[in-house]
Amino acid sequence: MHCACAVADSTASFATRRSPFALIFAPVRPLLLIPPLTQLNTPYPATAYLCGLLKQQGISFRQGDLGLDLVLRVFNREGFQLLFDAIEQGNFNLPQHLSDTLLRRDAYESTIDTVIDFLQNKNYSFAYRIANSDYLPQGNRFKTIDDLEWFFGHIGVQDKARYKCTMYLEDVADLIQATVGPHFGFSKYAERIARTAVSFDPIEEALQTPNNYFDELLLSELSNYFAREVPDFVGFTVPFGGNLYGALKCAQWIKQHHPNVPVAMGGGYPNTELRDLFDPRVFNYIDYITLDDGEGPLMALFENLRNADKPAQYIRTFIRENETVTYKNNRIGGDYSHKQLPVPTYEGLRLKEYLSVIDMPNPMHRLWNDGRWNKLTVAHGCYWKKCSFCDISLDYISRFEQSPATALVDKMEQLIAETGETGFHLVDEAAPPLALRDMALEILRRGLQVSWWGNIRFEKTFTPDLCKLLAASGCIAVTGGLEVASPRLLELMEKGVTIDQVARVCKGFRDAGILVHAYLMYGFPTQTDQETIDSLEIVRMLFEQGLLHSAHWHQFAMTAHSPVGLNPEKYGVIRTGPEFKGFANNDLYHEDPQGANHEQYSDGLKKALYNYMHGHGFNLPLQKFFSFKVPKPRVHPLTIVNAIKTNLPDPIETPGFYLIWQGVSMREISRNAEITELAFIFHRSTNRVKLPSAIADFISSHLDRMDMHAANKLSLAEALESFETTLQRDKEWIVRQAWYNDLRQSIWLLKLN
Ligand code: SF4
Repeated sequence: MHCACAVADSTASFATRRSPFALIFAPVRPLLLIPPLTQLNTPYPATAYLCGLLKQQGISFRQGDLGLDLVLRVFNREGFQLLFDAIEQGNFNLPQHLSDTLLRRDAYESTIDTVIDFLQNKNYSFAYRIANSDYLPQGNRFKTIDDLEWFFGHIGVQDKARYKCTMYLEDVADLIQATVGPHFGFSKYAERIARTAVSFDPIEEALQTPNNYFDELLLSELSNYFAREVPDFVGFTVPFGGNLYGALKCAQWIKQHHPNVPVAMGGGYPNTELRDLFDPRVFNYIDYITLDDGEGPLMALFENLRNADKPAQYIRTFIRENETVTYKNNRIGGDYSHKQLPVPTYEGLRLKEYLSVIDMPNPMHRLWNDGRWNKLTVAHGCYWKKCSFCDISLDYISRFEQSPATALVDKMEQLIAETGETGFHLVDEAAPPLALRDMALEILRRGLQVSWWGNIRFEKTFTPDLCKLLAASGCIAVTGGLEVASPRLLELMEKGVTIDQVARVCKGFRDAGILVHAYLMYGFPTQTDQETIDSLEIVRMLFEQGLLHSAHWHQFAMTAHSPVGLNPEKYGVIRTGPEFKGFANNDLYHEDPQGANHEQYSDGLKKALYNYMHGHGFNLPLQKFFSFKVPKPRVHPLTIVNAIKTNLPDPIETPGFYLIWQGVSMREISRNAEITELAFIFHRSTNRVKLPSAIADFISSHLDRMDMHAANKLSLAEALESFETTLQRDKEWIVRQAWYNDLRQSIWLLKLN
């Protein structure tokens, strides 16, 4: 089934409002598409960002997510009937578990509509039936976890049902991949073809191969957009290699059926992989390939199309001229700074039809797949831009720009009004802590009720009190790179963090009720066996102490635009290929003569992590996770315990720190000449603190100045000066007192300027 109203949803809303700055003539009516496949639960944000600008400029636009279109086309009763017919007709030689799935086709056909409704949050009560009965047919994927009760308990009915539905979809996807849809996956399409595609040959060959079952469905979905109205221009965002083939397949169809419609491609894949492009064959499908931020290049292309009689001017755009690839960047101005960009818009996307899935029973991991998140960016680029494995020479990392917190929170309010969703995913490379602080203060000032999560660096600016402020504003989770938990390698990669610091920052977030996910790396140049095992041991300890909630290992990849790729000798590795042949140039092969055999650690590291993420295996020797002999860890067994044992002392000599009270109320409980007991009342708890009476008086009389929005806030310096005068003791003595520490449990210390 692909219901007509769904098609109408995705195509009907040409935005018609015009801003005061609208172009006088705006005949270009673009269609911006997300090719299959990125995510099932929420749209990839690139087209929404671009359409935000088009809307502001008064340009009529459409946007669509072909990944969602494709999935919903197949995953319904009628789609399954056609799918299973096609598989049966193919007479595939299947392993038994997949032929069993096929034999149960009636069960799949009769349940799929209910499953999709449930995953789209349209049939809440059906969870009880899915969770607690054999309603769903079960294939191999269900064997991953035996005891679902252990993970979800008896009350976690919705989650258990969602997890079972996800496994059900994965079982069918396994069958599809083994038969009529070898390219298909729920978050990628034909990714293998784009992997290290130094030459366009394999892509061209795949594009010239007759369409398979899924290609045909994809093109049918694409044709629906054209049936509604032929656009003047089509733009594909290609964030990853797993979107390249889908975009080119669609572009091929457009060139065959609508040769006059210009087609452009931009996004993360061209930005990182296609900067050295010289093979003109890709322009048989695509007319323009743009680099870096898409807003400026896109608007320049529209201007060219509107003024076809004038010489064309481009911004960071590859075109084909006389059978040669030419890079054009001849327009003066026309780019947009981060500050200038308006709020994204999701207009036209089928927002109510995304699927919230759970593929792993881990509270942090699920955020990527569950729920619809409005995406926003606090800042363009990375304020750190030093890590030696990162693409720091490219614009998306190197150009750091941020906009004021007021503008960011304005966008939040506008997105809530448009989508009805109050959840935000901040898709920064690494959101700056002080910008997050300002955003949190602004959210709290406006009384906005939101939840948000995003990517950060585990840097010391995230004090426990800043973590509490972020949590109060709605922060539910953070993700950040710990990479290789080894002091030597953290320094070599210029990560700018230490293990102790990461542990303390994670504790701050954890204590504030914020989930923490760490990106982990293995195989960094010169990393030894011992360092790999020691790094795993640190990760084990972080999980054991409850400082991490989830993590993901990836093997170091040498990229052309990173310091390691640009200067491999400096890092002790040898570049061995591949030979560039005119198309993608980013992933490089290398040898690491001083390092371990990194590949062989992959399975063991993942196995250990999977256990730790589910609260298992902390007492197992690390050797248990590997099928070959590994060294014993040499890190001190109390490394993490010691790192988080005590809080860092208050920065009494640093100016700019203010005392902030964010509770409900404060009461005096008892008093005598020396000691007064105050109760600091919070939403969830009450802290009773016994203070020298003179200090208690000071606190009571300055409480209004400790409001985070007070005009005349109370600084730490002023408070300590007063305490020194009152108690006739110096501030070093004061901050060591138990009552001071008790007081600080209720009153935050934030750096505000
Ligand atoms: S790895 Fe992260 S923190 Fe490091 S430079 Fe890249 S974006 Fe910035």
